[in-house]
Amino acid sequence: MAEKIDSVTATVGLAAAGRDFYRRGWVLGTSGNFSAVLDLDPLRVLITRSGADKGALTEEDFLTVDSTGAVVEGTGRPSAETALHLAIVKATGAGSVMHTHSVSSTVLSQKQGKAKSIAITGYEMLKGLSGVQSHTHRESLPILENSQDYHALAGEVEKLLLRERGSHGFLLRAHGLYTWGVDAGEARRHAEILEFLVEVTRWQS
Ligand SMILES: [Zn+2]
Repeated sequence: MAEKIDSVTATVGLAAAGRDFYRRGWVLGTSGNFSAVLDLDPLRVLITRSGADKGALTEEDFLTVDSTGAVVEGTGRPSAETALHLAIVKATGAGSVMHTHSVSSTVLSQKQGKAKSIAITGYEMLKGLSGVQSHTHRESLPILENSQDYHALAGEVEKLLLRERGSHGFLLRAHGLYTWGVDAGEARRHAEILEFLVEVTRWQS
C-alpha cells in the first residue's frame, strides 16, 4: 500500500476506472467490482456495493467494510465478492483491487480446459506490470475454478497468492480477471495490461 488515502480520493479514482472499464466492455451489466484500502489498523476497505452500475459510480455506490467484510460505513450490501478482495489485500498487501468480467478473460480461461495457469511471454506490454523489465519475462497467470461459495474461494485465493508471490493477477474460470496494485492507479494499469495480454493470448490460442 502506497500511503493512506481518504475515501473521497479513493472514490474518485475507482469511479474513473469504472467509467473507463465500462466503456471498454469489461464490466457490463453491473458486473465487476473495485476496492481501495483506506486504513490498515484496523483494516478499512472502500468497495463498490452490490448491483452498482460500474459505468456511473457515485459516492453512494461505495461502502466501507472491516477485515471480516462487515459494513462500517455506507448503506446497502457490499459486493458479493468482497471476501476475495479482502483475501487479496491480506495476502499481497495491495492498496487497491480491481475485478473485470471481460469477454477475453472469460473465453481464455474457459478455453484452457482444466489448466491451472496460463504462461504469457514475449510481449512488450508485459513491461507495464510492476517489476517487469523485459518482454522476455514469463508471467504465469493462475486460473481458479469459479464458485458461488465466495468464502471458500477466498481461502483458495489467499493460499494461491501466498504461494505465487510474484503474481500480478489471476483468472476465475469463465468468470473474469482479478488484479491489484499499491494504489488505484497501479491496479488500473495492471488491469489494462493484463486485459491486453489476455486478449492477444486469446487470439493466439
Ligand atoms: Zn465477478
